[in-house]
Amino acid sequence: MKASPQGSRIDDEFQTKGAPMLTLHCPYCGTDADETDLHAGGQAHLKRYGPGSSDDQFEDYMFMRENPKGVHFERWRHVYGCGKWFLAARCTATLEVFGTYPAQTTEPPPDLRAKISAKRPGWTWGDFA
Ligand SMILES: [Zn+2]
Repeated sequence: MKASPQGSRIDDEFQTKGAPMLTLHCPYCGTDADETDLHAGGQAHLKRYGPGSSDDQFEDYMFMRENPKGVHFERWRHVYGCGKWFLAARCTATLEVFGTYPAQTTEPPPDLRAKISAKRPGWTWGDFA
């Protein structure tokens, strides 16, 4: 096994425990699902534009995505469980999960945003904070 030149703590954890597993709570069936039971669906809360929208708006909808190191809102499907889509707020750097909520929710719930603000003061994501 190749040793890391810096001997980072993460490398040490990977060697002794394996890669960390993301676990998300499915808001529909109520189970805590490991990432092997889930399928990632990309960024949540995309703003869709209808007929008559500009080329720039359509380009934003099709191609432009948030890619933060920190708080992120994502779509996930409990593919090897109830099969339903839901949304999750998590930190991309630490895998800390702030919460999950139904996919029909048009913006992050206020109580979830307050929870994130308590842990990550000053965070922003798209139009939300
Ligand atoms: Zn489920």
